Amino acid sequence: MSSQNPVFIPGPTNIPDALRRAIDLPTMDHRSPAFAEILHPALAGIKRILKTREGEVVIFPATGTGAWEAAVTNLLSPGDTVLAARHGMFSHRWIDLCQRQGMNAEIIETEWGLGAPTEAIEAALSADKAHKIRAVLVTHNETATGVRSDVAAVRRALDAASHPALLLVDGVSSIASMDFRMDEWGVDAAITGSQKGFMLPAGLSILGLSQKAIAAMTGAKSPRCFFDFQDMIKANAGGGFPYTPPVGLIAGLAHAISMLEAEGLHNVYARHYRLAEGVRRAVQAWGLTLCAKKPSIYSDTVSAIVTPPGFDGTRIVTHAAQKYGVAFGVGLGEVAGKVFRIGHLGSLTDVMALSGIATAEMTMVDLGLPVRLGSGVASAQEFYRSSQNTVQTKAA
Ligand SMILES: *Cc1c(COP(=O)(O)O)cnc(C)c1O
Repeated sequence: MSSQNPVFIPGPTNIPDALRRAIDLPTMDHRSPAFAEILHPALAGIKRILKTREGEVVIFPATGTGAWEAAVTNLLSPGDTVLAARHGMFSHRWIDLCQRQGMNAEIIETEWGLGAPTEAIEAALSADKAHKIRAVLVTHNETATGVRSDVAAVRRALDAASHPALLLVDGVSSIASMDFRMDEWGVDAAITGSQKGFMLPAGLSILGLSQKAIAAMTGAKSPRCFFDFQDMIKANAGGGFPYTPPVGLIAGLAHAISMLEAEGLHNVYARHYRLAEGVRRAVQAWGLTLCAKKPSIYSDTVSAIVTPPGFDGTRIVTHAAQKYGVAFGVGLGEVAGKVFRIGHLGSLTDVMALSGIATAEMTMVDLGLPVRLGSGVASAQEFYRSSQNTVQTKAA
């Protein structure tokens, strides 16, 4: 792998130089008031990114997986039922985590390549007259398949069924890259990490919690200590942390939010759409298709590209790494070997995306796939030159 080339995996994403500098801090006494000056802007910034006025934000030294566990153990009890669609590796892993925490998962098996099935969710909620379902889990952006789910529609399903379940949303690969509206969508726990849209190294679990979620903590009986929300909220209010905080990463988070806000969140989302659409034009020019079944659910942060039957898509990833020093994502779980993934999120410009498209193209030609050199690049170029591109320099 070349350290000069951008990565095209859907996280961890490329770390801008400004953020590498922002996280490089000398040791500080985290019990001194100086720590609050780092922590509080980061927490306030996350609220703006999540679009929550009502909610609380907590940060733990962990990853997205840790945030899943924190949400589930603080808000639920062993034996509680959660309702979730399984339609990719990440929705699968979250279900698995709930089961290992002793929860009962009511699983809606869904084709990999489709989003959370709103109608089936509403039907399950309507059928649950006794309100045994305590939480609905939604993977906003299924990173394994490149599929976006409609969180607002899941909220409408809960409301239509007059169901009191909590709405827990995994936004690890969408938050800070794709539109997210915690309060408007009635999200009770919004879950993310530092290494995707926030362009930082892995190491922070980030959660937004509604007041309803905070109230649910009192009755939730799952054992928790490291991830206890009460301990964290209480310590944060006094400017501290319940244990030693990763100060550099938290400083980096505040800086990342400043960068995103300098670009403008709306522009950040527009840039991700544009990057994604360029990749999609290239995929079309290659004569290939996406794992995502329809345009309305296409992810703007990752594209899972279906490789021809009988051709192991993992070969593309291996070859691109060995010959060109460029990282793409492999297929996971049910789509292992059937797709390869191009991550297009975080600190990325049109120009960088073109290099990834060009590399994928060289790789496929090397491996004998019927792709013409330049075909995908040209389609993406046409799209990029004709679409809005006024904020590129700030994105870096
Ligand atoms: C990356 C990812 C995770 C897992 O995050 P880790 O930081 O690797 O623990 C969870 N959900 C989704 C949708 C992801 O993309």
